[in-house]
Amino acid sequence: MSSVRVSQPDALNRLIAAADPSSKCDTGTAEQAARELLLVAQAEGDAELAAEAEVWICIHLLQAGRLREAIAESPSIRERLRAERPGTRLGDARLELLRTIALAASEAGEFDVAMGAAQELTRDPVVHAHADAAFDAAFSLAVCLERMGNSWQALRILTDVMAQHGTSAPSFPMLYTMNALVATALGAFHRVRDLDDEGESVDLLITARDAAERAMPLLEPFANPLYRVAVTGNLGEVLIYQGELDVAERHLRAALAEAERIGATAHRDRVRASLGAWMSAAGRDADALAWLTDLTTDLGEDGPHSTRIRAHHAAHLAARSLGRFEVALDHLEAYELLERRRTTSQLRSQSEMYVTRTEAQAEVERHRVSAERDPLTGLGNRRRLSRLLDQLAPVGRPATPFSVAMVDVDHFKSINDLLGHAVGDGVLVEVAQVLLDGSGDDEVIVRYGGEEIVIVMPSVDVDVATARCERLRERIERHAWLDLPEGRQLTVSIGVAGSPPSEPERAVAAADRAMYTAKRAGRNRVAVATSDDLRDATPMSIPRR
Ligand code: GH3
Ligand code: MG
Ligand code: MG
Repeated sequence: MSSVRVSQPDALNRLIAAADPSSKCDTGTAEQAARELLLVAQAEGDAELAAEAEVWICIHLLQAGRLREAIAESPSIRERLRAERPGTRLGDARLELLRTIALAASEAGEFDVAMGAAQELTRDPVVHAHADAAFDAAFSLAVCLERMGNSWQALRILTDVMAQHGTSAPSFPMLYTMNALVATALGAFHRVRDLDDEGESVDLLITARDAAERAMPLLEPFANPLYRVAVTGNLGEVLIYQGELDVAERHLRAALAEAERIGATAHRDRVRASLGAWMSAAGRDADALAWLTDLTTDLGEDGPHSTRIRAHHAAHLAARSLGRFEVALDHLEAYELLERRRTTSQLRSQSEMYVTRTEAQAEVERHRVSAERDPLTGLGNRRRLSRLLDQLAPVGRPATPFSVAMVDVDHFKSINDLLGHAVGDGVLVEVAQVLLDGSGDDEVIVRYGGEEIVIVMPSVDVDVATARCERLRERIERHAWLDLPEGRQLTVSIGVAGSPPSEPERAVAAADRAMYTAKRAGRNRVAVATSDDLRDATPMSIPRR
């Protein structure tokens, strides 16, 4: 390792360009550049650049397949970045680092390390409020689960994060998370397709296709040739099984050409396996068999396990259609052996990691809980509300009656204006605490908007709900605020509505209207939704932020 001192800005920029994982250098050169960059950044006292360089070293080691070195490289930088928040340069470096550790450790079969890195992300409520960070958290956790043989939970995590953040601004993390969703759904499809569960395999293909089609437009802005191959190849594969052979072929040929152009061997072979399956689907079994025989020979014993599994399976089907049963049996045996090895190694890792496996289950639940929490107040957020309303009025089943209150802080803007936004934030946290202290365990409190809080009271009629709200209003009025100047009071206006049996969203909208009635009547009071409010309320769709 040479420790060149680079003081020229040009030279420094060249070094950064060479060390950056998105550069075109081969990983060995890039790793070397990142190590040099680290020394330079340390010498210049540039802590941010030094941290990035350290993270990049891990990424290059992962890409070079030096998994254990990547993991060994990470502990000290991980500790130093622990408190950094997404959206800042160091916070983003932390996300990259944790995602890299989760990937490298999953790949190396060190599931406790992988799970630890994923957990550091998933347990951080701030992460869930930030789309790209939420993608990284879900991606890391899903990769661990998938490698541990837990594809369905991986699928759930990825589907959830897409439902939550899929409409946010396009980004690179969105792209690779979508691609992971496509790959996971396809993997699950291959596992169930022979089990005759028509419905499920059809659904899995729809999930995969939907994610692939949403990923395609992101390939241009976040140009990355590897993802171009992966996404196009996956989409082509989905289309084969959906019977859209012409489009499938176009995508597969494009993916193959691109993979060859950039020398991505593993990706290329995966696409070759899909093209074999495509030939069979197109009725050209003899071509398919010849093509797949070449592929299985090229892959040998060392090729990627999953590609070998698919190639032998497709070759078996092609040979069987041709009536060449002996050849078919050879491929079937090769396929079954590989499949058994995969299952055994997953079972072994699961039994060795029994604690981690149970933890994995718990983690899926925790992931959901933090994704439904408002990071400022610790209350639920709109996703929590949305899921609760779905539970109270399940489609096609009897609804649970409930009441709902919309609480809005009076003249809250003046607090920000007079005392500053930070004090405003502190007051919101305190308001949430007063409401939590004053309400029962069965009630669910969510932060609906800036200073608007919704309280859902299952199985409570509107009269009881109104009385409870009146007590909450008084509690707020009497509270001595830690964050406000001595003697300064705060009040809230509350609207209450009972739920019509089948339209919970309408109840929320009616409570909102009643809250405005309370404002108009002079604030610091509770108003009950009238039948007009209930009739005229436009059921708000509760947007998933
Ligand atoms: P009223 O409801 O009584 O009509 O008056 P208001 O001043 O409370 O009403 P308005 O809805 O106009 O203002 C709400 C303010 O809440 C606007 C915004 O500055 C503030 N706000 C919203 N979200 C936050 C937040 O997260 N932190 C802080 N500090 N302020 C917030
Ligand atoms: Mg308001
Ligand atoms: Mg207000």
